[in-house]
Amino acid sequence: MSDATGLAEALLGLDGFRVLEVTETDAEVVIEIETTADRVGCSGCGVRATAQDRMPVECRDLPAFGRPARLMWAKRRWRCEEPACDAKTWTEVSKQFSARCVLTNRAGVEACRQVGANARPVSQLADELGVCWWTVMAAVREHGEPLVDDPDRVGIVEKLGVDETSYLKANRTHRTIYATGLIDLDRSIVIDLIEGNKGSDLGAWLDDQPERWLEEISVVATDLAESYRSGLTGRLDHATRVADPFHVVRVANRCLDKVRRRVQNETLGHRGRKDDPLYRIRKIMLTGSERLDERGADRMLLGLRAGDPNDDVLGAWLAKESVRDVYLTDDADDAAVLLDKAIAGCRQDWVDEIRSLGDTLTRWRTEILNHHHTGASNGPTEGLNLCIKKVKRCGHGFRSFDNYRLRVLLHAGGVNWPATRPAPPRIRTRTPHPNAKSPKCGSLGSTLRSRWPRATPISSEGSSWFSRPRACCRTR
Ligand SMILES: [Zn+2]
Repeated sequence: MSDATGLAEALLGLDGFRVLEVTETDAEVVIEIETTADRVGCSGCGVRATAQDRMPVECRDLPAFGRPARLMWAKRRWRCEEPACDAKTWTEVSKQFSARCVLTNRAGVEACRQVGANARPVSQLADELGVCWWTVMAAVREHGEPLVDDPDRVGIVEKLGVDETSYLKANRTHRTIYATGLIDLDRSIVIDLIEGNKGSDLGAWLDDQPERWLEEISVVATDLAESYRSGLTGRLDHATRVADPFHVVRVANRCLDKVRRRVQNETLGHRGRKDDPLYRIRKIMLTGSERLDERGADRMLLGLRAGDPNDDVLGAWLAKESVRDVYLTDDADDAAVLLDKAIAGCRQDWVDEIRSLGDTLTRWRTEILNHHHTGASNGPTEGLNLCIKKVKRCGHGFRSFDNYRLRVLLHAGGVNWPATRPAPPRIRTRTPHPNAKSPKCGSLGSTLRSRWPRATPISSEGSSWFSRPRACCRTR
């Protein structure tokens, strides 16, 4: 390969094609190509076909050295000369191009990977390639859906996590629409994303799953939502249900916030302002007592003394701390004692909010203690929620839930991306050490210095890598 055509074909990298001409405009590189096949048999009768004419087809390929590339394929039409044959005429096809598709297959696969694995906006890819949004999204669907629907993607799940994220914010026409994420807690992947956060939504999804797949699930971790509990009932009764520790503590924190806001309103007649005693300690109160230093504890007590005449907020703080205590131990029996103590304390309280917290804890007692039996939590779920939100943000909102689900699963669903070529070897900067002893390096260094003069002399204390001895200088 030494002639210009051979070099151009090597750069193009499309098997079975030769380059006819390359022209460059300010906006793009136009590459005219044709297939190398000149002897073609009829698919109907096998007789050698005759070339009839050519039809130019334009496609967008991967950018060539940073410039958008347009392929002009002079597509050949063949004719069968056999009078009895039904084939008559046909146009040639290539596995590198899909019929009626503006993107070449390799450009479509790369667009899918950028939008899916790297969570890049579709519009950005469309601008880069010089096609419209719909073309890129169609490529993402064409190449991404088989990856998402691949039965090997999920496999057997033993620990299932269920949690909601918001999908669409409320507006004049609808309330906030939520999406429920199903998570494999062992592999930390999103199994599926379903629209809505009702028990019926979760139940319908579970009903669609194969019986044998459901039987393998031994643990389900959820937040303290009655809707998910009702959705699981009757479908995953054999699995141990776990109330996620983070959400249990959050329920107690919310109770504390509720009491603080009510007392604030009752004593001062307005919502918290920055100088109000309770408002000033709102964050200190939510901090775990074991993490408070002496100064913080003093500030909290001072704030409670000034703003909490009936000790309602203090009671809520103690209730919150008693709930946190459940997670101080790993022993299931100790945890049961601590939880029962917390429940009894809450239910005897005179503050409505704290009694209601006691009721919630009573309803979820088994699930809360199951955390100590199984060690399961929704930690991986919360981590994956960040990935889901990243996809949502990069799309600047979604209109189609199907597109949203596809992009979330491509990004965080443990998709087996088709193998690409190995990572290229890294090229190091070749600037030599300026003080190198070797005559070869010394001469190169001085040449470089004369071509690239530096304003300040290089000192030995400098942190720049110029001052570091480099192995390559000795070998070259
Ligand atoms: Zn024929």
